[in-house]
Amino acid sequence: MVLVTDAELEDLRLAIYLRFANRAAASSVAELAVALGQDDRAVRDGLRALAASRHIVLDDADNIVMAHPFTSIPLGFSVAGKRHLWWGGCAWDSFAMPNLLPDDDEVLVATTCPNCDRAHAWVVGRDEPPAGDQVAHFLVPVAQIWDDVVHTCANQRLFCSLTCVDAWLATTGNARGYTMDLATLWRLAQRWYDRRLDRGYQRRDPMTAAAYFRSVGLDGPFWGL
Ligand SMILES: [Zn+2]
Ligand SMILES: [Zn+2]
Repeated sequence: MVLVTDAELEDLRLAIYLRFANRAAASSVAELAVALGQDDRAVRDGLRALAASRHIVLDDADNIVMAHPFTSIPLGFSVAGKRHLWWGGCAWDSFAMPNLLPDDDEVLVATTCPNCDRAHAWVVGRDEPPAGDQVAHFLVPVAQIWDDVVHTCANQRLFCSLTCVDAWLATTGNARGYTMDLATLWRLAQRWYDRRLDRGYQRRDPMTAAAYFRSVGLDGPFWGL
């Protein structure tokens, strides 16, 4: 049996997202098969279809690595809610989570500066950006995000300051990507993942994404603008 209809694929996508949101856990093929009343083969094919359309990211063994903003692997951020602790996929994903999690309108986002290892933490909510003078640095331009999305997320980090960003770039031999303050990062994260927990969610097309980036104060070729 295969998951042939869009509705069946959407059931699968929602099952993955709701387990991440409500249990802070990635779903295995076996769990999804039981939840959906399908066999493993059908679920595996469905996962590959969702990965091909960039709803999720799989590893070589079809384990779910990411369903943005959720991730099953450590990428430098933890996100603590009232009852659960999530990995944060990146600065953008971590700041987005209070807007997506139904029971957590505030979370504690924690990370370390990639340059100097200093610990940083913010209480991130829905109403206003957290205070702080730390700097977000995104290495990979929007047009290349999906070339290797795990690498992209792993390099969307928060630093103590521009000095730490520049020192890290010099150490790693990377060219400067895009830097922004916490308020801009928070605005970027605020509505980006809207409706991912709802049935019928559609990914943004490039034009809609560009309009969104512009609306939160981003500009320039890095953002495709
Ligand atoms: Zn630092
Ligand atoms: Zn990310």
